[in-house]
Amino acid sequence: MAAEATEPGGWAVIGGGIAGVTCAEQLALQFPDEDIYLLTAAPLIKAVTNLKQVSRTLEEFDVEEQASSTLERQYPNIRVINSAVKELQADQQRVVTENGNQYLYRKLCLCAGAKPKLIENGNPYVLGIRDTDSAQTFQRHLAKARRVVVVGNGGIALELVYEIQGCQVVWAVKDKSIGNTFFDAGAAEFLIPQLRSDKPDTLLACKRTKYTVEPPAGQGESWMGSALGPDWHEGMNLKAAEGVSRCVHIEGECEVLRILSLGEFKKLNILAQTVPRGNDAESSATSHTEEWPVYVELTNGRTYGCDFIISATGVVPNVEPFLTGNNFDVAEDGGLKVDDHMRTSVPNVYAAGDICTAGWTPSPLWQQMRLWTQARQMGWYAAKCMAADHLGEKIEMDFCFELFAHVTKFFNYKVILLGKYNAQGLGLDHELLLRCTKGKEYVKVVMQNGRMVGAVLIGETDLEETFENLMLNQMDLSAYGENLLDPDVDIEDYFD
Ligand code: FAD
Repeated sequence: MAAEATEPGGWAVIGGGIAGVTCAEQLALQFPDEDIYLLTAAPLIKAVTNLKQVSRTLEEFDVEEQASSTLERQYPNIRVINSAVKELQADQQRVVTENGNQYLYRKLCLCAGAKPKLIENGNPYVLGIRDTDSAQTFQRHLAKARRVVVVGNGGIALELVYEIQGCQVVWAVKDKSIGNTFFDAGAAEFLIPQLRSDKPDTLLACKRTKYTVEPPAGQGESWMGSALGPDWHEGMNLKAAEGVSRCVHIEGECEVLRILSLGEFKKLNILAQTVPRGNDAESSATSHTEEWPVYVELTNGRTYGCDFIISATGVVPNVEPFLTGNNFDVAEDGGLKVDDHMRTSVPNVYAAGDICTAGWTPSPLWQQMRLWTQARQMGWYAAKCMAADHLGEKIEMDFCFELFAHVTKFFNYKVILLGKYNAQGLGLDHELLLRCTKGKEYVKVVMQNGRMVGAVLIGETDLEETFENLMLNQMDLSAYGENLLDPDVDIEDYFD
């Protein structure tokens, strides 16, 4: 067994996703004369390009899948090791990789991301989407599909139901309204008409380079790639075989009770639903003999046959290889708890991105969400903390953790979420102000004690900077009452 060890005192980062690459890049800049080891399971790494600071806390960037040699060329002191880590011996400050090598570290940052939480593991008809590989599997299945069932109500489910064309989509959501992770019922109502019209043709050139990659030898099923990003479906043909118009049927307030094979379904002698064409509200039970490879029984008593099921029901942090023999504090959501220096409970081990759970007392206007932006911010800040701790310097919590800020696109609308945009954790102690122009914009602000604490901005509202400032300054706005959102009032002038 070849054993390679970094010099005792080396820097090591595990994971070639956004968090890990950003962390390694920042360490490489801070310690140009030292080697930075980036150990990653996937043959490609993810790099942030075209970073644009939209406002003080809002940022936009592209994500590029790159060969690790590109990163090594750009940062000559980064050494990318292409092998999954199978063991962490924290008492020895050592990691062991699948290919049998060992690496000693002075400080280590775990950035191994998360994997989809599937509604049923091991069922070939249940797909999760995480990386390029799983997205391609999905695309292959879709090409032959007549009907798919999408389960989940987060960002991935939202994007999928909008992007899939040419087959029936049954969307099972456990909440009262769609997109509950991001919106309230009002915003959902604003967006739903987009599902009822044919999607504009957006098969544009892809923003980032896509590679078709095979898992490294011997890592077939267990291969862990990086999570896809905001534009994962761009350039992918998400058209099914049927070529029919968009047809999305929403089943609200229900979960999947069980998944049945065709044989099991027949034995039970129950009826399956049809999906109404034209997005009518109601489906109907039928004894129609159309057969499906798999059936989904929902808790509302309805059963749908389909070609496959997309499980978009959240993620589970990839912590397993690191837990054995180490005393990590693991949070309820399965992430490694980190303090305000991104330190885990194990000495000299930090964590950033989807694998970690913020264990510090957050600013009143920030919450953790497993998103690109936070993976980048945490990776960058973890590197700064590792360096500061090593050099015995003080470091302040980065400003990006003051206010939750996320810019994205749903159903072809620009969407900006700020602060406690969904009144998270505020109980009844808040009020909402709304302004909505059908098909154009939806503006919601969350107010508490006359102060703005959150906002959802859909469409080209141009309000993000002003609202961000109002939230950061916590200015008392009670005097303005509902006029705050009056379209005839130039709110920016008000507060300049
Ligand atoms: P990852 O990107 O998952 O990277 C983890 C890395 O660790 C990988 O390189 C993997 O190979 C490596 N690894 C894992 N285990 C090991 C091991 N044992 N040893 C060595 N290496 C290991 N976020 C948004 O903000 N906006 C969006 O629109 C959006 N859309 C998304 C769409 C999809 C389909 C998915 C799946 C996610 C989406 N996200 C989105 C979430 C976003 O992709 C993640 O929050 C982000 O990628 C997390 O980055 P990370 O670096 O922590 O983890």
